[in-house]
Amino acid sequence: RIEHLNGNVEFQNVSFSYGREENTIKNISFSVKTGQTVALVGPTGAGKSTIINLLMRLYEPHEGAIYIDGINIQKITRESLRSFYGFVLQEVFLFEDTIRENIRFGQLDASDEEVEAAAKKANAHSFIMKLPNGYDTKLTEDGAGISQGQKQLISIARAILRNPTILILDEATSNIDTVTEIQIQEALQCLMKNRTTFVIAHRLNTIQNADQILVIHDGEIIERGNHESL
Ligand code: ATP
Ligand code: MG
Repeated sequence: RIEHLNGNVEFQNVSFSYGREENTIKNISFSVKTGQTVALVGPTGAGKSTIINLLMRLYEPHEGAIYIDGINIQKITRESLRSFYGFVLQEVFLFEDTIRENIRFGQLDASDEEVEAAAKKANAHSFIMKLPNGYDTKLTEDGAGISQGQKQLISIARAILRNPTILILDEATSNIDTVTEIQIQEALQCLMKNRTTFVIAHRLNTIQNADQILVIHDGEIIERGNHESL
């Protein structure tokens, strides 16, 4: 069990296949330093989610290895590894309980004050306070009564509270109104600050701000650099 990681991630000649003839990931190498953002871009089926799956140890590389702070992640238990990750995904996972508990999710030792502080940083506080029961508003699994963008803000609040070493961000593509979109972008800036972020990027703005852009095509990195160099 590992107590602390800084979040320097390195993929060293990683190849992987889900079982078919051709490798889904072909000899991928890159490194990300603590606090940096790496944007994974490329067409559908390119292998972006597979790279994240490997990082989470849902699958093992067939060749090569993945290191965090120089430790081969195969030596870290999945459970221990998972404690260092936070997620903001397109499909926000909600469960039937109050907004407060939905934000507290997984961080059972977090106080109500900490939940609200996280919601404030995530720009979620103001919409929550406009709901008849505020933080005690009951949500359903499908989030009836709150918008897609507001679900994203809840998800960001949850991640801020979790304070992960490594953030996995799969940007939402669904239609979110401009005002909420600005709130989301601002909240994400706050969340991404000072932690290693992997973002499956759909927005030009996110790509422009990334320290490193990896263009994935057919399981290979076909281009890399930052927005100026590409
Ligand atoms: P998208 O932009 O659509 O999310 P992606 O870049 O994330 O695409 P992946 O999901 O990594 O692409 O898929 C890469 C390849 O691996 C695709 O050909 C896909 O069909 C295949 N694949 C993905 N998951 C599995 C799986 N669990 N079992 C078998 N093949 C899979
Ligand atoms: Mg994907």
